[in-house]
Amino acid sequence: MIPSAFDYLRPNSLSEALSTLAAHGDAARAMAGGHSLLPMMKLRLATPALLVDINELRELHGIRFGSGEVVIGAATTHATLEHDPAVARVLPLIPAAAHQIADPTVRNRGTLGGSLAHADPSADWPAVMLALDATMDVASPAGSRLVAARDFFAGLFETALRPGELIVAVRIPVKADTRVAYRKFRHPASGYAVAAVAVVLTFERGACSGGRIAVTGVADHAFRAAAAEPLLAGYAGQPDRTARLLDLVFGGVVPLEDRFADASYRLQLGRTMLRRALADALSPSPSPSSSKEAA
Ligand SMILES: Cc1cc2nc3c(=O)[nH]c(=O)nc-3n(C[C@H](O)[C@H](O)[C@H](O)COP(=O)(O)OP(=O)(O)OC[C@H]3O[C@@H](n4cnc5c(N)ncnc54)[C@H](O)[C@@H]3O)c2cc1C
Repeated sequence: MIPSAFDYLRPNSLSEALSTLAAHGDAARAMAGGHSLLPMMKLRLATPALLVDINELRELHGIRFGSGEVVIGAATTHATLEHDPAVARVLPLIPAAAHQIADPTVRNRGTLGGSLAHADPSADWPAVMLALDATMDVASPAGSRLVAARDFFAGLFETALRPGELIVAVRIPVKADTRVAYRKFRHPASGYAVAAVAVVLTFERGACSGGRIAVTGVADHAFRAAAAEPLLAGYAGQPDRTARLLDLVFGGVVPLEDRFADASYRLQLGRTMLRRALADALSPSPSPSSSKEAA
């Protein structure tokens, strides 16, 4: 439980962080909240010779509200996203999910960018960002690029990030007339998702005109259920449509298995979370999206 020896550097700017990471290659790792990286180092699953602490970089902080989008700095903590009233007003899915991450200690240190880059198959933000159709603002010494969330999560702890790249911010489009829900079945010890589903429904003239569904915890990486989403147009909770949605979202998924949940239990939990999230999103009750499952 003791990490191997490492040097520690706290750069003063994003460009210094990026050039340091580029200069040291595989030997260096960026550290944000440290709540995934440090446990991995203690288990010797990661043995960086140099930690580059990006947590205080001002370029990675701040939440900006533009026309039609919100831009969230990568080093924004889960707790900030849980409690920011302006975020809650325009993107209620964000506090609903943030509130369900682990416990206050983890939420006070862990960051949005760290969670997305780490791409744990049971993490919450990947599903939320897929459902919100977010885009990552990514930088390296060679320049910047944008990566859509739907192209970002590639496999177990695998993303589209290239060596030395950092997520600088996450861009989230804001649309009027949407209803959202996040349903999560928490692992009783860690709080990670055994299965969780994020739903965003769009409405026109009072009827559901479409939406997005994203799932985490069930497969080796969070995924968006694009094949099922056309069924959301005209969806009003019809039982036959709900059954087809559940089949389309989870048909063909290869579920994770562990001591806590075997494959069929995990799939069943995924289906249950989706059914409840769809009902929440359709429900007119004031805060349907903050429902927590008892473990
Ligand atoms: C007990 C416990 C319970 C937890 N429960 C949950 C839970 O219920 N749900 C959940 O979603 N998460 C959970 N987590 C994980 C937590 O949310 C982490 O904080 C998060 O996964 C990683 O964020 P971080 O800022 O701590 O990243 P770090 O640990 O600092 O970094 C993680 C990885 O991301 C890289 N990285 C960090 N920032 C960036 C960036 N801006 N650009 C590119 N790469 C970057 C690092 O190099 C490293 O490889 C839990 C953690 C613990 C310890």
